[in-house]
Amino acid sequence: MNKVTSMVQGKCPHCQQGDVFAHKQFYHPTKFSKMNETCDHCHTSFFPEPGFYTGAMYVSYALAIPIAFLVAMGLSYGFGASDEVSLGAMMMSILLMTPINFRLSRLIWLYLFGKTKTNQSNKYIS
Ligand SMILES: [Zn+2]
Repeated sequence: MNKVTSMVQGKCPHCQQGDVFAHKQFYHPTKFSKMNETCDHCHTSFFPEPGFYTGAMYVSYALAIPIAFLVAMGLSYGFGASDEVSLGAMMMSILLMTPINFRLSRLIWLYLFGKTKTNQSNKYIS
């Protein structure tokens, strides 16, 4: 399995076997954000340092805005929708994409900047 496939499937960046997120249901309102502390396969920490995922907000923004923009422009120019309808659809697209966007942005951040270590002593538990 290559890194991109592993990332999209929510697998550990080190061993690509264990799951980063605790639940498979990514649209459950309370479960979609629950992450495992460590990989259950190789014990790599998914929380390398305190506040590690703060930077994932920028990734989330970079993922959400182009989609919302395309939805609004598609409705406005493609279907002649009013500005209010386009704005509402844009906000709904952001809202509906939140669970996917949340998970994908954290996974991208973890794969890019998470220095994954197999050593148990490097494990940080928040
Ligand atoms: Zn692992």
